[in-house]
Amino acid sequence: MMMLTKKMIEIRNMLQTIGQSDTLTLPSIVVIGSQSSGKSSVLEAIVGHEFLPKGSNMVTRRPIELTLVNTPDAHAEYGEFPSLGLGKMTDFSQIQRTLTDLNLAVPAEKCVSDDPIQLHIYSPNVPDLSLIDLPGYIQIAGHDQPKELKQKISELCDKYIQPPNVILAISAADVDLANSTALRASRRVDPRGERTIGVITKMDLVDAQRGASILGDRKYPLRLGYVGVVCRVPHSTGLFSRGGGNITNAIVKNENAYFSAHPLEFGPESELFVGTSTLRKKLMQVLEQTMASSLQGTSDAIHQELEEATYEFKVQYNDRPLSAESYLAESLDAFKHSFKEFAEHFGRPQVRELLKRELDQRVLDILAQRYWNKPISELGPASAEPEPLSGLPKADPESLFWHRKLDASASSLTKLGVGRLATTVLANQLQAHVDHLISTSTFSAHPFARQAISEAASGILNERFYGTSDQVENCIKPYKFEIEVEDNEWSKGRENVTGSLKEELVAVEAAMKDVEARIGGKRKLKDVLGFVERVRKGDVVLEGDGVGGAGGFSSALLATGREAAFLRDRADIIKMRLLAVKSKQCATKKNKYYCPEVFLDVVADKLTATAVLFLNVELLSEFYYNFPRELDSRLGKHLSDTEVERFAREDPKIRRHLDIIRRKEMLELVLEKMESLRQLEGREKRSKAAQ
Ligand code: GDP
Repeated sequence: MMMLTKKMIEIRNMLQTIGQSDTLTLPSIVVIGSQSSGKSSVLEAIVGHEFLPKGSNMVTRRPIELTLVNTPDAHAEYGEFPSLGLGKMTDFSQIQRTLTDLNLAVPAEKCVSDDPIQLHIYSPNVPDLSLIDLPGYIQIAGHDQPKELKQKISELCDKYIQPPNVILAISAADVDLANSTALRASRRVDPRGERTIGVITKMDLVDAQRGASILGDRKYPLRLGYVGVVCRVPHSTGLFSRGGGNITNAIVKNENAYFSAHPLEFGPESELFVGTSTLRKKLMQVLEQTMASSLQGTSDAIHQELEEATYEFKVQYNDRPLSAESYLAESLDAFKHSFKEFAEHFGRPQVRELLKRELDQRVLDILAQRYWNKPISELGPASAEPEPLSGLPKADPESLFWHRKLDASASSLTKLGVGRLATTVLANQLQAHVDHLISTSTFSAHPFARQAISEAASGILNERFYGTSDQVENCIKPYKFEIEVEDNEWSKGRENVTGSLKEELVAVEAAMKDVEARIGGKRKLKDVLGFVERVRKGDVVLEGDGVGGAGGFSSALLATGREAAFLRDRADIIKMRLLAVKSKQCATKKNKYYCPEVFLDVVADKLTATAVLFLNVELLSEFYYNFPRELDSRLGKHLSDTEVERFAREDPKIRRHLDIIRRKEMLELVLEKMESLRQLEGREKRSKAAQ
């Protein structure tokens, strides 16, 4: 018969994990009583160990859902807090400390919490039972306790003593039953006394006659009756029990001694209403019957719940199966796929373009620094006649000055740290692409994965950085000494630099428009420019560099004016150089001193071609090979189930999807268990009938 209770308690605990609901549960035994009525002593006598928090000011602040599991073949006795993951506790004083800590964690202003503590105790000496220990009723709050405590405790108990739970109402023999708070509370919710068991503690504190008369009480009749107990641990074993031994026997022995010392009052038939052993048996019987009679109702409720969950799963999730692992695996596959696609479209030609653009910018900087920073006429020797049509100055091919200038410029380019620059540009681009892929993938809603992927990329890039950068630098080394230019290279360079000069012109003109808008229009700009021009020529002398403004213009306006003047000059020079590059003179490499723009472009192109060759081998191919593998190792088999679960649940949509599936599965599992229980019950009934 007892197998049934065990199974029903299992089902009850499963339902508990599905979620709190009034109908979706099986009944339990709820223990209520005033403070000091001996409630803890009764529970400890049943469990066989002291494990409940003690101390004058120690009010239980949370319900304890106590599941006792009989393990007939085991020797060890231990407790477990299933939702805390602290593992098995064989030391019951450790359980006591844990319960004390959990109680103290409830903030004082909250008084009590209705969030129950789950505690399972496994022992060959306990019956299969499900009990809920509630805070003891108090008469008046102590001086250091909140005023509302009494009210709050009473409300919490009321919540639990509802049907179909069994009420274990504890009252002390030395207090008039009419004053028993537990019985009064039970009467309110169970007026006919159908599901209340009365326990009278401290039977040894009243004389036997009076004790017997309490148990036979007719004023407060209970269908399940009263049981009188003496749950005090006798002194001789009190010390011993702290050593961790089981106290049930000592209590029972002590109890028997007391009751058999009063044979008149507690004769042989009193076995039905006195003693802790009697109480245990009664609890088992009553719980089993109550649970069994609730089975049908609970099963109906589960069916209903399952139908709702199934419907929701169909409508909202299209019956799409999902698990945390499959979700991660699919997300990872999709991500790797999108990465592969990117890799196919980002190869050598793209790297080349990227790098060339970067070097083009450097070429323009060098030109600006070395050639365009002086009045343009200086580009030619002072004696040379300016060419009226194109405005192209003539550089004397024989002049050492112009040779040195061009050599120095080429040198600035080859020695600017191309290895480092090229590697940085490519690495940054790859990292940015990966970040972009993350943001458009399912991983975007998962901080944990976002970080893991980003770190996977930066890990590889950082590791390869110095090696690649050194390689590239080594390979462009020859250009630091000599640069040979072919005819076709020259014409390609000429074409290309025309393009970049035009782009630069557009950029400068756009910047000029911006300055114009900031200054407040064309006219204003012209005024400011005019003034700046006069200052430049020395027609106007500024006091203190124009810090406080001058000529009716504020200092900020003057600064903007100077910026405008610079941009205007830059635009003029670029226009002039564009004409030069397009002219016949720049059509041939022989005239490279006239055409530094073309020559430097050719150099930049050579540097790019060589750098790309090695960037491809050292960084790009390596990255493409290693990155997917690194992803696998960071987000694949390496992760524990808990980590995978935590990852998947980061996305609220996925969390809801997983929850509904889990709920459905749990409900189905519970129904299965209930079905096998029904069969077991049927078998037991048949075998009883056969006897
Ligand atoms: P709770 O506050 O209701 O949990 O009560 P306790 O179980 O802590 O008991 C209160 C006091 O009564 C303690 O000092 C116990 O030792 C004592 N006590 C409990 N049961 C008995 C009993 O059957 N006989 C006697 N004499 N004392 C008891």
